[in-house]
Amino acid sequence: MSIVCPLFSGSEGNSIYIENNGVSFLVDIGRSCKQIEKSIIQNGFNPGKIEYILITHEHVDHVRGLRIFAKKYNSKIYASEGTIKELEKKQILDEKIRYECINLSGTKIGETEINPFEISHDCAQGYGYSILFDDSKVKISVCSDLGIISNDIFNSISDSNLVVIESNHDIEMLKKGPYPFFLKKRILSDIGHLSNESCAKLLPKLASNGTKRFILYHLSSNNNTPEIAYESSDFSLKSNGMYNCELYVAPKSNLGELRVEI
Ligand SMILES: [Zn+2]
Ligand SMILES: [Zn+2]
Repeated sequence: MSIVCPLFSGSEGNSIYIENNGVSFLVDIGRSCKQIEKSIIQNGFNPGKIEYILITHEHVDHVRGLRIFAKKYNSKIYASEGTIKELEKKQILDEKIRYECINLSGTKIGETEINPFEISHDCAQGYGYSILFDDSKVKISVCSDLGIISNDIFNSISDSNLVVIESNHDIEMLKKGPYPFFLKKRILSDIGHLSNESCAKLLPKLASNGTKRFILYHLSSNNNTPEIAYESSDFSLKSNGMYNCELYVAPKSNLGELRVEI
């Protein structure tokens, strides 16, 4: 059995717990080590069993607790070369921590195939991940912090059993909201964040290629609400004839209310 449990979501910090047949790992660790540990336990898992951590990019909402957690639990870190260099520069990584660069040809960790894809975001070299468990053939994709969905990304995440997908902001809320102009421009750009509208447009295409489970992720606290994000994707799926999908919104902080088992 595979379990996907988003621990934290949004600009204050992002982290996802994934487990397959007893092997556990995290994608990102964007809250403090203490908060991540607490959340893992609250959701019924064991922080001591986290074997490795995949990092998408170096922004603080994805790596805040990385150094302390990795040192404490000796989890191995995987990320792109560009991200690793940034993390070394910030002294988050050093010789006391186990880490390895991966490239777009991917890697295999035990029975798990990790296939990264490039994301269009204002960071050094961001990756999204498609994760394939060899034993069960379950495929899970994590696709967040990106301005656009390219054909390459679409192809990488197609056929997934579950996609964790960014649904960052409602465009109108962002435009009318309190953010300064430069920040609005950054978020709306091709290297910013995926809007509810772009996410909603993508979901029926993924659903018609076989994906039936979606977790909306990385919602903005200022320019979105869980209800608006859900409505927007739910309406898009149903108006395209996709009635049999499971659609979830990752809570800002998951106190045990959301886990998806495949
Ligand atoms: Zn980012
Ligand atoms: Zn982020």
